[in-house]
Amino acid sequence: MPQKSGHPTIVETCPRCGTQETTLDVRGATNDPDAGSRGWVAFVVCRRCRRPSLFDMYGRQTNHSPASPEWDGADVNPVYNITATKPITKSAARCPEYVDDKIVRIFDEAALAVAFSAFDAAGAMFRKTIDISTRGIIGIEPQSVPQGAMLEFG
Ligand SMILES: [Zn+2]
Repeated sequence: MPQKSGHPTIVETCPRCGTQETTLDVRGATNDPDAGSRGWVAFVVCRRCRRPSLFDMYGRQTNHSPASPEWDGADVNPVYNITATKPITKSAARCPEYVDDKIVRIFDEAALAVAFSAFDAAGAMFRKTIDISTRGIIGIEPQSVPQGAMLEFG
């Protein structure tokens, strides 16, 4: 049973830290005019990572705000259809200190891609940070491997 905070709560997967079935406090909501009188965009804060996210919430039987004091700390999952939107700030991943600025820029872009669930793009960007970081150490470009040198699998 979630601990009551005074804020209504939802139990969902946190888009920021990825914790499944975690409690998030609904701190505010605004009506989404494109979704009708029952559609809301809610500002929620994860109790585990303390980071904010936005969720689309659609009242099943009500047009009252999911942030309304009438819910008094209750779990409002049964009241609304809930879908996560995108996190409103960058992902939790932070580039280590003392890294070259050009690598920090690529790393931050990769971390943002993770936050937006663009995992293929994130993988390519993280790979790029490794390529740039190791170029001076290895002294060989990954593209310079002859095609015939590729290993066959399966
Ligand atoms: Zn979280």
